[in-house]
Amino acid sequence: MLTLPPFEWSEPTSLDQALGLLSEKPGEALVVAGGTDAVPNLKHRLHEPRRVVHIGRLRELAFIEVRDDGLHLGPLVTLSQLERHPAVRRDAPSLAKAAGLVAGPQLRAMGTVGGNLCLDTRCTYYNQTYAWREARGFCLKKDGVHCHVVPQGRRCVAAHSSDVAPTLISLAAEVEVASRRGRRTVKVEEFFVADGVHNNVLRPDELVVRITVPARSLGLAVGYQKLRPRGAIDFPMLSVAFAARLAGGACETAMLVVSALAAKPKVVGGLEPLVRGKPLDGGAIEAIAQAAYRQCRPQINVPYDDDYRHEMVPVFVRRAIQEALGMAPGPAVRGGGGR
Ligand SMILES: Cc1cc2nc3c(=O)[nH]c(=O)nc-3n(C[C@H](O)[C@H](O)[C@H](O)COP(=O)(O)OP(=O)(O)OC[C@H]3O[C@@H](n4cnc5c(N)ncnc54)[C@H](O)[C@@H]3O)c2cc1C
Ligand code: SF4
Repeated sequence: MLTLPPFEWSEPTSLDQALGLLSEKPGEALVVAGGTDAVPNLKHRLHEPRRVVHIGRLRELAFIEVRDDGLHLGPLVTLSQLERHPAVRRDAPSLAKAAGLVAGPQLRAMGTVGGNLCLDTRCTYYNQTYAWREARGFCLKKDGVHCHVVPQGRRCVAAHSSDVAPTLISLAAEVEVASRRGRRTVKVEEFFVADGVHNNVLRPDELVVRITVPARSLGLAVGYQKLRPRGAIDFPMLSVAFAARLAGGACETAMLVVSALAAKPKVVGGLEPLVRGKPLDGGAIEAIAQAAYRQCRPQINVPYDDDYRHEMVPVFVRRAIQEALGMAPGPAVRGGGGR
């Protein structure tokens, strides 16, 4: 049986109290929201904090508001609430779909959108018990000095595994973070960094307090496709989010995000000349799919074949675009995410 390590437990009842607790021992505290990822990680000794700050009682952080400037989400909104909310389903259906494809129903009832955004990266050599990792010689993400995936590498390439984040990036969403030092707003696209040890820009005393999808991104043509071994519960081994603004049959803007390959979601570049002012027809879809194939290179960081994941990139890009266009995506490939 895996047990929890010893830690001091704090359960603040206001945001101010929570930020105070984080500022007292920055770097020594772990934030826990739904706990669906943080608690197993504690049991695996992947986190060994002196203090755990459970923010689940901060009801002021559990809101979904539709305002003139966009959709505002509190970080404590659960994935089930996000999946089912009528305005989210209507105006940002890829976001609702991605939330509904996370894990299984029990985990979606507990797991929050803030926790999903800040989800720790995953790797075959990291998401293991202490004894397993010790026998393998640990790795530079935790307790060791070498990477087993890229042995000469100096940076961890563990997989970014959040389902919701790629859709938020495709919708140009922003995240507001707060600490006792003040507040700042970061584009979700710039929230992540390419180092899997700590793959976001959050400082130890900061909390995510709001996620905003701007009004201009509501009602776009969107799609989200996820490849996972078992459709009922697994993390993505590849995920694709697509969003486009269409007018009169032509494409004005398009954003494609491919993730679960490395520490940071990949925004596929160079789409504008392929799509601007043109219809998203078979030729354009193929050009986008091939651009994604060329730009994405899966690492051997999760227990699934990297060449297979690479070959699936254009397949899932085509499906995500077809979904955005209201065309039925192709047949499912091993839990291929069409729902
Ligand atoms: C069997 C299993 C399958 C899973 N499958 C998937 C999957 O398919 N897709 C997927 O995306 N996830 C999956 N997960 C992971 C997890 O359930 C979800 O990502 C969930 O949304 C995490 O939310 P949480 O509130 O439980 O986060 P927690 O576990 O509480 O926290 C996760 C991380 O976020 C940080 N955090 C939480 N809230 C905040 C905040 N407001 N500000 C700053 N930091 C914060 C925590 O410190 C921690 O580092 C799975 C988990 C399990 C156990
Ligand atoms: S990518 Fe390398 S450093 Fe990162 S968790 Fe995996 S083995 Fe460790």
